[in-house]
Amino acid sequence: MPPEVIECFVMSNSTKYVFVTGGVASSLGKGIISASLAKLLQARGYSATIQKLDPYINVDPGTLNPYEHGECFVTDDGAETDLDLGHYERFLNVPTSQANNVTTGKIYQSVIEKERRGVFLGKTVQVIPHITNEIKERIQLLGKEGTYDIVITEIGGTVGDIESLPYIEAVRQMKWEFENDCIVVHLTLVPFLAAAGELKTKPTQHSVKQLLEMGVQPDILCCRTEHELDLTLRRKIAKFCNVNMNAVIESRDADSIYDVPILMQAEELDKVVLEKLSLPTKSTPDLDNWKEFLRRLKNPEAEVTIGLIGKYVELKDSYKSISESLIHGGVAANAKVNVRWIHSEKINSENAASELKGLDGILVAPGFGSRGISGKIETVRFARENNVPFLGICLGMQCAVIEFARNVIGWKEAHTTEIIEGCKTPVIDMMSEQKAISDKGGTMRLGAYKCLLTPGSKVSSAYGSDKISERHRHRYEFNNEYLEEFEKHGMKATGRNPETGLVEVVEIEDHPWFIGAQFHPEYKSTVANPHPLFVAFIKAALKKKKQK
Ligand code: GLN
Repeated sequence: MPPEVIECFVMSNSTKYVFVTGGVASSLGKGIISASLAKLLQARGYSATIQKLDPYINVDPGTLNPYEHGECFVTDDGAETDLDLGHYERFLNVPTSQANNVTTGKIYQSVIEKERRGVFLGKTVQVIPHITNEIKERIQLLGKEGTYDIVITEIGGTVGDIESLPYIEAVRQMKWEFENDCIVVHLTLVPFLAAAGELKTKPTQHSVKQLLEMGVQPDILCCRTEHELDLTLRRKIAKFCNVNMNAVIESRDADSIYDVPILMQAEELDKVVLEKLSLPTKSTPDLDNWKEFLRRLKNPEAEVTIGLIGKYVELKDSYKSISESLIHGGVAANAKVNVRWIHSEKINSENAASELKGLDGILVAPGFGSRGISGKIETVRFARENNVPFLGICLGMQCAVIEFARNVIGWKEAHTTEIIEGCKTPVIDMMSEQKAISDKGGTMRLGAYKCLLTPGSKVSSAYGSDKISERHRHRYEFNNEYLEEFEKHGMKATGRNPETGLVEVVEIEDHPWFIGAQFHPEYKSTVANPHPLFVAFIKAALKKKKQK
């Protein structure tokens, strides 16, 4: 490596780095393990943040179909990110940012831009060192800010994937450069073979061997398992994978993701991590509030059924933040929330009443494009006419506006220009600043914007405040040319952007609880702070249920 390249990585090591890699199979829950570890460290008084490195070539997941990787999570600073960032925020109650999610696409984009600017001074630009240096720089960016004692970096994908190789190499180099300040937690699977009646450690051994071939010795192994890992198995794994016995951590399947920090604490994952990073372990994690949340989650006093209407319901991860927000809202309202997942394509004017029967609340989900939109509009009609508490989010709010225009005001051809470009009554229209944009990636109205709520409205009483800030992800908006007619007929704009007048919230006065939000409240609900709109929605559903 040329000396100038090496030099830029001599750095202050006040920040410690924990890498979380995955082996054997995907979907083992690296995100939840990372978030749980961060939670335990935070509960001991350390400041921790989590970063996700995704080995795919898309610059960000904003342009990805939710069927590929689930929901696209949006940060305050307007980054479209992997859904794991949602878990990080829900567990830590600390906002993430652009720097918390990096993809191979972003890495290459940045290296290629530097090459074009002449930064590399005529050198041949290569995966090693240029790509790996860029990866290391992105990891250390969070550390350099000096805000965090510990940066946890989750490497997406599974060890052995061709596309993760530069990331594992970057981890190897950082382990070498940082010695005691950098460790690797490897998450593996210990499958149970029913025919043999045994847990099998061989896949774990192989996966560690694969890491070793790339020069990385994991310090801690988190073993996903359906059954107890007894001492014999732990000893075997320790011996064949060169890790200490206490660094073989059992990660049993849990009833709820919110149990995982407690299970990890029982296994002393946090203690082992701190020991390996030469940090004090005396403090005990203060998890009182977390445990209180779990107690309420497991001992609900009532139950409600919420219909979640969307076009991606086959893959529940597409609505991860919404389903978690419903859980948080339920805990705050002391109610268990059963979600009935309803495919918007299946709803029409004939079957809406039978398909939506028995719901205590209806949530129409965000989305893009025409597929399933008529089912969403029919669903809104059912909720409005039958006084079922209704929460419409983004496209769900836009559908509520269209439905009201058609069936209350009587503008039968009302629509959004997203679906009918030359629509005669465009009650939802493309935002003017969007009209000149042709690129699809990262160009929507994204991230946090302020919103003023009408005093005395349902939405302001839900928030207990008239000034809020919420996150956005859209190109279309309520068409203010029609506002007067809407308000005359009883649909009020009760939330507006103070600078532009853009309608952020609509509600129907003459309905027990009917709120449409142009923003995404689900991105801001956390265990520590269940989102007020979801709490109020669940409370309204409870009330509806009692009346039945
Ligand atoms: N498709 C709509 C828009 O772009 C709604 C987007 C969303 O639901 N996130 O405005």
